[in-house]
Amino acid sequence: MLELVKGESQGIRVGPRWPSSKVLIEQNTFNKMVETQSMLPPSVRLLIVRGYESKSSNLGVFRLLSRWFGVRLFCTLYPKRKNEVTDIFGSNGHDVDGTHVDVSVVLNGKRLRFLPFGVFTSLTRQEAVAAQHLVVINKVKDALRQCGFEIHQNQTESMQIHCDYKG
Ligand SMILES: [Zn+2]
Repeated sequence: MLELVKGESQGIRVGPRWPSSKVLIEQNTFNKMVETQSMLPPSVRLLIVRGYESKSSNLGVFRLLSRWFGVRLFCTLYPKRKNEVTDIFGSNGHDVDGTHVDVSVVLNGKRLRFLPFGVFTSLTRQEAVAAQHLVVINKVKDALRQCGFEIHQNQTESMQIHCDYKG
């Protein structure tokens, strides 16, 4: 398992999601990220924000608590989207091993934020933001798929590009 801190590693940006200060990722999964990056134009950079997080760590406990509050807020905001709670608030494998990664995209040095309000961003808002950068998003997702990553099928999860390395 590799431990990445904020900054850059082999051409890949690393920006651990708050409150974490590092990203843990399987070596071969990271190698595949580097391969994915090599397929993209220089103006497009991958930014790894989340990898393995142990359930029993402080971070794991923090995620559990934010999940508890998050689910309640989400269901209040979007009562019709209760069926998405598991996809959005489940750990999606992050507490299993370092092959589950959340990736962001940096375009011309600027991070693209498709979820200005995190997972609480409405689907309409997500689509509006994504529409401006559809070409780039599709390029990144295609490259990830070609390198053996599977992208989460839930729209919100796929916007904060949650992907699993399948080999
Ligand atoms: Zn994820």
